[in-house]
Amino acid sequence: MAKLVVKRSRNGRGIFSEESIKKGSTITVFTYPIFYAKSSKRNGTWLQVGDSLYMEPLGFIRFLNHSCSPNSGFKIRGKEARLVAIKDISAGDEVTFDYSTTMHKDKWSLKCNCGNRKCRGLITNFDTLTKSLQNRYKKLGIVPRYAYS
Ligand SMILES: [Zn+2]
Repeated sequence: MAKLVVKRSRNGRGIFSEESIKKGSTITVFTYPIFYAKSSKRNGTWLQVGDSLYMEPLGFIRFLNHSCSPNSGFKIRGKEARLVAIKDISAGDEVTFDYSTTMHKDKWSLKCNCGNRKCRGLITNFDTLTKSLQNRYKKLGIVPRYAYS
C-alpha cells in the first residue's frame, strides 16, 4: 500500500502519493460492510460497485478526484474495491481515477474541470465513452463487469 496524503488540489482537496508507485501496483484497498441500493438520497461522492449498488466513501477515499487522464482505477470484487496504478506514479503526484469507469445506468453526471487537454467536459456513464477508450480501460482491468454487457 502506498503512503497517501490529502492535500489541496485543483478542485478542492485530493489524494496525493508520497512515494513512487509502479504501474500495476495496488495503491490502497477499501472494504465496506455497508452497501446501498440506488436511492434518491445519494450524492455524487458515492462509488458505484454493482448494477444498482453503491459504496459510501467513508474516510479519505471521498477526496479521490476524477481525471479524464487518470493514473489509477478500481478493481471491484465483492465488497472490496482495490485501487491500482495504471501508470507509473511519481512521489508528489495526485492520484486520480476516471469516475466513468465505474458508472453504469446512472442518471448522475458532473461537469469536468480536470484540466487535462483530453478533458471530455462531462463525466457520464461508461457506455458513453468512445469505444477505443472503453477498450483501453477494459484491457487495464479497471472496468467492473456490471458497467458493460
Ligand atoms: Zn476532464
